[in-house]
Amino acid sequence: MNRAAAPRIAVFGSVNMDLVAYVDTVPASGETVQGRQFRQIPGGKGANQAIAAARAGADVAFLGAVGDDAFGVQLRTTLVDSGVDVSGLRTVAGASGVAHIVVDAAGSNSIIVIPGANGTVTALREGDTRLLDGARVLLLQLETPMSGVVAAARAGRSLGATTMLTPAPARPLPAELLECVDVLLPNQHEAAALTGHDDPERALAALLESVPEVVVTLGGDGSLYGARGREPVRVPAVRVEPVDTTGAGDTFCGAFAVARAEGRDPEEALRFAARAAALSVRRQGASTSMPTRAEIDAF
Ligand code: ATP
Repeated sequence: MNRAAAPRIAVFGSVNMDLVAYVDTVPASGETVQGRQFRQIPGGKGANQAIAAARAGADVAFLGAVGDDAFGVQLRTTLVDSGVDVSGLRTVAGASGVAHIVVDAAGSNSIIVIPGANGTVTALREGDTRLLDGARVLLLQLETPMSGVVAAARAGRSLGATTMLTPAPARPLPAELLECVDVLLPNQHEAAALTGHDDPERALAALLESVPEVVVTLGGDGSLYGARGREPVRVPAVRVEPVDTTGAGDTFCGAFAVARAEGRDPEEALRFAARAAALSVRRQGASTSMPTRAEIDAF
């Protein structure tokens, strides 16, 4: 796609190095076990969504922070290599964010996230407003401090961006944030945690009392979309043989943002996002599995 014509999307959020140990059995306290494999994978919901949106065809700016360590250099390079504008990515003194992940033989994982530099993103900084100005969509998540997320949402809204929030990890959403959010995109577990309703339709209805549009993603069952004053719509997932669903949600969200920024209607944007996410679950990894625009269009 012609880059000059690509819509601009800003992503405000986290970037981590995922340190993944694959083991047969997770060690108990005091125990040492031998693992099968180790992988170091760039991640963080913010960076993942930025890479997904850039690959899906948008001109993407990322706002966040890395530490002044070796991981910080690698994380910055990964974003640059994916075509993301990193002029809003600060390098701060100290460690980059890391996620220690242990995956057992059954594929279940336990995760320790150490925010590091992500914890310093408590407000907008000089130059951030310039990057938000002209963005059609602003993508937000909750892996950085709430004060920064609220400041970004407010600025994005006042500059005319459509603001989209992935409420992960799920936590209570303050009114000052909700009033600046146009589209909320929880998965079904986050939707249940936010509303107390396990039934996605009931959760959707409850969330629409706070924001104008909601997308609840349902894994292999697709997604459920609702807007105030409209009947909810279910969009099926594209059937594929899943290899690794890590990052499916971030791929979905990045692609959905691109399609909306291009002016597609919500259902069309959800079908585009479902194709992108299905392509990503057919491949190993998160950022490494995200499809390009050409792949999504050809699928
Ligand atoms: P993750 O945390 O793994 O990144 P998530 O929990 O945020 O994902 P999901 O609801 O699992 O998000 O998935 C998002 C979208 O990805 C779904 O709406 C669907 O379109 C697609 N998807 C997920 N799993 C599958 C699958 N097994 N087959 C096809 N598409 C899938």
